[in-house]
Amino acid sequence: MIGSGMGSLTAACLLAKEGKKVGVLEQNWLAGGCTSSYWRKGFVFESGATTLVGLDDDMPLKHLLEEIGIDLQAVELALPMQVHTQNGKIINRYKDLAQWITEAENTFGKKNQREFWEFCYRVSKFVWETSLKQTAFPPTNFSDLLFCAKNVNLKQLRYGGYSFFSMKWLLKKYDLLENKPFVDFVNEQLLITAQNHLSEVNVLFGATALCYTNYGNYYVNGGLINLVNPLVDFLKKNQSDVFLRHTVEKISHENGMYVLKVRQKGKDEQIFTAPILISGIPINNTVELFESDLKKDFEGNIMESKQLNSAFQMGIGFRKTKSFDCIHHQIHLQEPLPEIGAASIFLSLNHSEDHSRCDTPNTMVGSISTHVRNPKEKMTFDKEKVENAIIDTLERHGFLKKEDIIYQHSSTPTAWEKWTRRKHGFVGGYPQYMHIKPWQMIGSRLDGQGAYLCGDTTYPGQGIPGVVLSGIIAYQKIKRDRKL
Ligand SMILES: Cc1cc2nc3c(=O)[nH]c(=O)nc-3n(C[C@H](O)[C@H](O)[C@H](O)COP(=O)(O)OP(=O)(O)OC[C@H]3O[C@@H](n4cnc5c(N)ncnc54)[C@H](O)[C@@H]3O)c2cc1C
Repeated sequence: MIGSGMGSLTAACLLAKEGKKVGVLEQNWLAGGCTSSYWRKGFVFESGATTLVGLDDDMPLKHLLEEIGIDLQAVELALPMQVHTQNGKIINRYKDLAQWITEAENTFGKKNQREFWEFCYRVSKFVWETSLKQTAFPPTNFSDLLFCAKNVNLKQLRYGGYSFFSMKWLLKKYDLLENKPFVDFVNEQLLITAQNHLSEVNVLFGATALCYTNYGNYYVNGGLINLVNPLVDFLKKNQSDVFLRHTVEKISHENGMYVLKVRQKGKDEQIFTAPILISGIPINNTVELFESDLKKDFEGNIMESKQLNSAFQMGIGFRKTKSFDCIHHQIHLQEPLPEIGAASIFLSLNHSEDHSRCDTPNTMVGSISTHVRNPKEKMTFDKEKVENAIIDTLERHGFLKKEDIIYQHSSTPTAWEKWTRRKHGFVGGYPQYMHIKPWQMIGSRLDGQGAYLCGDTTYPGQGIPGVVLSGIIAYQKIKRDRKL
């Protein structure tokens, strides 16, 4: 297994549960990749992901935790998110659909909000109900096709048609395209869940992404490393292991075994062998590790920097001067951020009941992230300018005062490339694009022999729920291919 991101940890745990011996090779000193937390100067910061859904019925994370018997200590958030508009209005993204529709009508006007959100919610329910039933999707061989056909029903065919239509089409259908504040709202919300704007996101993914807050949103005390650690512990207890600071540098396939050349800092090269290999790193990086010409097989499917995003991220530890009802905030900016041009930032605070993320009483921790488009062209820039603009924004919105900041740091795509080794430091997975239909997304079989892929560059894509599902799919395909 290459990498200890949520995708590969999912597949690893499911295989270990079947009695398989799994070795997870992780180049970093911490497990989890873009879902992890680290301690610095008395504060615990999130490395990437901050919001967590997936613990409701029919959802991949719940399925994984039930399968391996982990009772995750997570707190459901009373209010999943607040959106702060350019003109200073605060929109509460309530979980309850009726309450959310009232809020949307009060904010964007009554016209067709109810119909739009009821439709999106129906689509999202369909997507979640279907996700764990179609584990051969996208089909890449005849047996996958057979499996998909056996499990298909009329509802799937009917809803499947929405992958041909964009969210822009949907807004037009409900006569909402002229409603500029609503269009801005949808665009920025889609950017954090589907990594793209409404003209590029299909209705199936887009409606589900927009209804992210209408499902249980959870917080894990101590940070999301405490979602990752129980999975690592499970592996250790089940004849498997995670090897930190082990970088896979080359892969070949010899006599039915994968041979991995692995570098551990300051030590001689080591060789690991395995009959089955799962890569939990992006396809962009995976193809470069294979000695065989895997790159050719995926030509045309590998996205380039100009289609991808990295992140600018800030961690701030500050004195607590007030309490917050909500921990996740999307703030839409009056002016795009200097240097990177982002139109919104996302702020996540520690839960008020979680005192484990700050060493000193009466302090708080905030993680801020925003998109950096085409990271290859913006690997470094004047960080201070961006940091100052972010702090001014947080001050203006009443989250903190400059003089209350105890510690701050930030990271550019260069830091992401170092932390995760992901090409150009791109994160958040492959964005949704209209020209790529769900069945055209990269599937989990890599070479048709024993190598598989999971993570956020494969179907179904972005976020913890998506990568956990990709890990489940990889595991199911291995099981069927190998008759485990
Ligand atoms: C700033 C930010 C905010 C986000 N917010 C959210 C959110 O709020 N909610 C949500 O659900 N999702 C969020 N996401 C997305 C989510 O975190 C990721 O999609 C997900 O964690 C990716 O998991 P993965 O398994 O694909 O791979 P990764 O997390 O990228 O893991 C891959 C692992 O492989 C290791 N590795 C790479 N190359 C090698 C090698 N050669 N040898 C050995 N190891 C290697 C890396 O060090 C890494 O640990 C966010 C992402 C970012 C960056």
